[in-house]
Amino acid sequence: MIRFDRVVKRFGDNVVLDELDFAVRPGQRVTLIGPSGSGKTTILRLLMTLERVNSGTIFVGGECLTHVRRGDQLVPADEKHLRRMRRRIGMVFQQFNLFPNMRVLRNVTEAPIHVLGRSAQDAQRQARELLEMVGLGDKLDAYPSELSGGQQQRVAIARALAMSPDVLLLDEITSALDPELAAEVLDVLRDLARTTDITMLCVTHAMKFARDVSDRVLMFDRGKIIEDKPPDELFEAPEHERTRKFLRSIL
Ligand code: ATP
Repeated sequence: MIRFDRVVKRFGDNVVLDELDFAVRPGQRVTLIGPSGSGKTTILRLLMTLERVNSGTIFVGGECLTHVRRGDQLVPADEKHLRRMRRRIGMVFQQFNLFPNMRVLRNVTEAPIHVLGRSAQDAQRQARELLEMVGLGDKLDAYPSELSGGQQQRVAIARALAMSPDVLLLDEITSALDPELAAEVLDVLRDLARTTDITMLCVTHAMKFARDVSDRVLMFDRGKIIEDKPPDELFEAPEHERTRKFLRSIL
């Protein structure tokens, strides 16, 4: 479903991802952890095509994201290819990024109508279901500014799901929230993990979430994966001193 093949990403002289290889199977929930600057967000941004690789290839859903075939050559993907691939991927950010001038329902229907060409009626029916699922069935007509941070983040999750993505990317989505509001958002994701088979890739410092929801935790250090294990194993018996030190610093 997702595969990174010898991916290198540099910013100037700073090698952020260093020949990175990893794969995530369909339906897996994978959490990326590691110290600040270890390249976790860069991985999500590459998948969202907000950044380009320096070398290596990325595959999503069996299709190459980063390159297209021209004759018998592979060349960097053009904007049209990237736009098409981007539709398969939903992303939720730390700062919810809702459209402030649109009510909740319209925040969720906007992209399905204008990007996927769904009818307004269809998009609204689906948006109501999704907003019900995230516990906001009574807030369809509210503006984002009338909602708590946790409620806004739940709208952002519904909005990402409305595009029926194959993959959901979550970048520190609870770190701007008070613990109680963060817990509401994590409950929604826990339900989502239980009731759907969507593939999730998640960057978080919320270790309880990593433990409850993910099948695998990847520990990053300086652009490389140094441990790749089920959460219980990684948290209870970390192999590397670097992982032990990191876990001590955040738990
Ligand atoms: P954090 O936990 O703090 O979010 P992270 O592991 O997600 O860290 P990244 O955000 O992926 O780390 O950043 C990795 C490195 O790439 C950092 O050294 C960062 O300064 C650098 N970097 C990221 N984006 C850019 C950019 N647009 N221009 C220059 N350097 C960048």
